[in-house]
Amino acid sequence: MNQPDPLDQLHTTFGFSAFRGVQDQVVGRVLAGQSTLAVMPTGAGKSLTYQLPAVMLPGTCVVISPLIALMHDQLRSAQANGIRAASLTSADSEEYREAAIDAFRDGQLDLLYVAPERASQSHFRELLSKAQISLFAIDEAHCVSEWGHDFRPDYRLLRPLMDAFPEVPRLALTATADAATRADVLAQLGIPDDGLIIAGFDRPNIRYVVHHRDTIVRQLTALMGDMPGPGIVYAPTRKRTEDLAEKLAAATGRRVLPYHAGLPSEVRAANQAAFVASEDMVMVATVAFGMGIDKPDVRFVAHAGVPKSIESYYQETGRAGRDGDPATALLLWAADDFARARQRLSEVEEHRRAGERVRIDAMAGLVETAGCRRALLLRHFGEDPPQSCGNCDNCLEAPGIADVTTLAQKLLSAVYRTGQTYGFGHIEKVLVGANDERITQRGHDQLSVFGIVTGEEANLLRPLARALQARGSLIPTEHGGLMLGGDAKDVLKGDAAVLIALAPKAERSRKPRRERGDGRAGGAVNPLGDPLFEALRALRRDLAAEAGLPPYVIFHDSTLREMATARPASLAALGELGGVGTRKLEAYGEAFLGVIRQY
Ligand code: ADP
Ligand code: ZN
Repeated sequence: MNQPDPLDQLHTTFGFSAFRGVQDQVVGRVLAGQSTLAVMPTGAGKSLTYQLPAVMLPGTCVVISPLIALMHDQLRSAQANGIRAASLTSADSEEYREAAIDAFRDGQLDLLYVAPERASQSHFRELLSKAQISLFAIDEAHCVSEWGHDFRPDYRLLRPLMDAFPEVPRLALTATADAATRADVLAQLGIPDDGLIIAGFDRPNIRYVVHHRDTIVRQLTALMGDMPGPGIVYAPTRKRTEDLAEKLAAATGRRVLPYHAGLPSEVRAANQAAFVASEDMVMVATVAFGMGIDKPDVRFVAHAGVPKSIESYYQETGRAGRDGDPATALLLWAADDFARARQRLSEVEEHRRAGERVRIDAMAGLVETAGCRRALLLRHFGEDPPQSCGNCDNCLEAPGIADVTTLAQKLLSAVYRTGQTYGFGHIEKVLVGANDERITQRGHDQLSVFGIVTGEEANLLRPLARALQARGSLIPTEHGGLMLGGDAKDVLKGDAAVLIALAPKAERSRKPRRERGDGRAGGAVNPLGDPLFEALRALRRDLAAEAGLPPYVIFHDSTLREMATARPASLAALGELGGVGTRKLEAYGEAFLGVIRQY
């Protein structure tokens, strides 16, 4: 068969000049008719690996996707690139579905998106047998495995359906699969073991930053100042999302809305739609938000509390910077987050407790490390990264490391000798030898630990107490006191050392990212204030509003930046820019050239 070159097709349809990472391997296998499981991190460009073959191969690619919202997002993006695509879901009108079925039967579709429950319906199998199928693409394929974190029984019905079409290759896609889940997905979907392709987990354009949470509204306001684009703030409770949304809106004047499962569904849908369409809105949400969001231009993800595991943290932060432009993941933690998580351990069923504890310890490790955060994350996922990434807070400004074992012994023994019932404030006063009525009343001024901490050391007591709580050596009591836990006895005996990372002094006066000029972040930053760039954005907004599409479906920021610097004078020159495929050139080319000519 006389197939065009995949690279040519990549350029014609998507306007991209090269494949990213493992995309070419995956596409190569699919075009060769081989079944494949591709494990690629969010933002790596999974959808292209079936959309491109769908355009090139005769017949229709059937895409199974678990979330209708996500499906419709991808449908829009595919159509904007001139790909003939339709969906069959309960959310589509009957009229639409009938038209979609007709188009499918007539061989007029490159892509047909369906939800997994349709796979069990016998008339769906019949429908498939009446048309030519080029490929089965199974999105979020970890849903087929009980080992995965998101098992969906409907996914088990896919195997019998696909087995009825043995000559059609299968492409399973997921961003999250550990070794056990991967093996299970291969088996469940009937994909050979050598069909597994794993991309690296690294997201080099995401900058990881972890700070102690002290003035949360100010900390988030500073982040919003650094990153003027859309952002997500994850907050632990419904009430906290509403409260923070209000305060951030007041502090910044930007549009900030809440999102949580307790809001009426119309409000939730409206807030989500506003976010997807926006170029600068911030959503303050519980973790209920994000699964169905495919917005590529999210510039930051902030956590207002410690996530439950490294896996959740990585998945949530992965929603930032899918477009490859610089993005920030900011984690704001407090000792309380860990204390509460450890308290909840007692409520967990016994056989799951050890696993939960490991997850909390891993989060504490991320928060406390003085080393590269990215390296720690990637090692967690089984990779062997370089020691330093140059794009996390610790690599950018090395924190000091202090051996505070002796001070920790003093602190722990003060907790012990005062009866393990007092809070940090009281313990601190005892240690520094404060003149305090409560201390004399209880006779704490008679203890050997009274006044044994002086000068410089006293300043380290608070960060030390936080670190000890994060690692579980100090545990809060029900009445707001502190007691010994974890390895406290080993520390007291001198069998365990305590090191803490000290935030660099520069933290307070740090420069916003735009002025730093560090090339390591990957990708450039929008030249906000450049009149041509702003005019191009304004045109994109108008076109988007007219078509009822989010602006990024028209063109990504990176394409507008290229237009502003290259200032193409002809359609041919415009078509050479990244992200400008044939269809978009036809639809929007003249309009953008018109704006460029004015400058
Ligand atoms: P995933 O589903 O893996 O999270 P997507 O398929 O949504 O990722 O792709 C992420 C973004 O990367 C999309 O906006 C897409 O346009 C872009 N992209 C994908 N492949 C390429 C490529 N080869 N060159 C440039 N951009 C790409
Ligand atoms: Zn680093």
